[in-house]
Amino acid sequence: EIPVITVDGPSGAGKGTISHMLADNLGWHFLDSGALYRVTGQACLIEGVSWDDAPAVAEIARHLAVSFTRADSGEVLVAYKGQDVSRAIRTEEGGRGASTVAAIPAVRDALLARQQDFRQAPGLVADGRDMGTVVFPDAPLKFYLTASAEERAQRRYKQLIAKGEGVSLARLLEDIEERDARDSQRSVSPLLPAEDAIIVDSTATPIGDVFAQVMLKVSE
Ligand code: C5P
Repeated sequence: EIPVITVDGPSGAGKGTISHMLADNLGWHFLDSGALYRVTGQACLIEGVSWDDAPAVAEIARHLAVSFTRADSGEVLVAYKGQDVSRAIRTEEGGRGASTVAAIPAVRDALLARQQDFRQAPGLVADGRDMGTVVFPDAPLKFYLTASAEERAQRRYKQLIAKGEGVSLARLLEDIEERDARDSQRSVSPLLPAEDAIIVDSTATPIGDVFAQVMLKVSE
C-alpha cells in the first residue's frame, strides 16, 4: 500500500506550509484538495453557473479540466481549461466560492476519486479538511492542525499586507469565522479531526517548531 500522511484543519492553521514542507522533505507527492474546490468555484464563475445551483455545480466538478504544474520557481500553477487561475482562486472570493460548492454532497462525490488518484508511489501528503476522515481513512499517519481564529486572521493579515494588499483585520476575522462555521456545520464531511489524528495547536507555536513536532512523529 502506498503510504499517505493526511493534514487536516481549518483555514489558516498552517496546513499548506506544513504539508508542502513535509512532501518536499520526504520527496512525496502533494495533494492540495482545497485547490480542487477552489477551481470548481472558479469554473462556475467562468461558465456562468451559480454556486447555489447544486446539479449544475456537480456537473462542473465531474468534468473539471484542471491541471497543476510546478514552475521552476517551485510555485504551483493551476489552470482550468488551460486558463491560468492560480491567482483568482486564492482571493477571498475564491475561498467563499470553494466553501459554498464544498457543501454540496454531489460535488464532494465527484471529486473523491480524483483526490484518491493522487496516491502514487513513493507516497502522498494530502492537505484538506476531510483527508483523514473521508478521502484516505486508512492513512497510517494523520495530523489535525489548528490555531485560534484570531491567530489565523493575524497570519492572513500579515501575508496580505506583505503582498501590498489593503485589508482590515476585523474583516478577515469575520471571514474566517464565517468559513469555519460553514465548514464545520455542513451536513457532509464536516470539519472534524479523525479519531486517530494527532492534534497540533499552533496558536502559540512558530511554524518551524510545528514542523519539527510533525517530523518527529513521521520518523517514529
Ligand atoms: O484549504 P483551502 O482554504 O484552499 O480550502 C478552501 C475551502 O474548500 C474550504 O474552506 C472548505 O470549505 C473546502 N474544502 C473542503 N474539503 C477539503 C478541502 C477544502 O471542503 N478537503
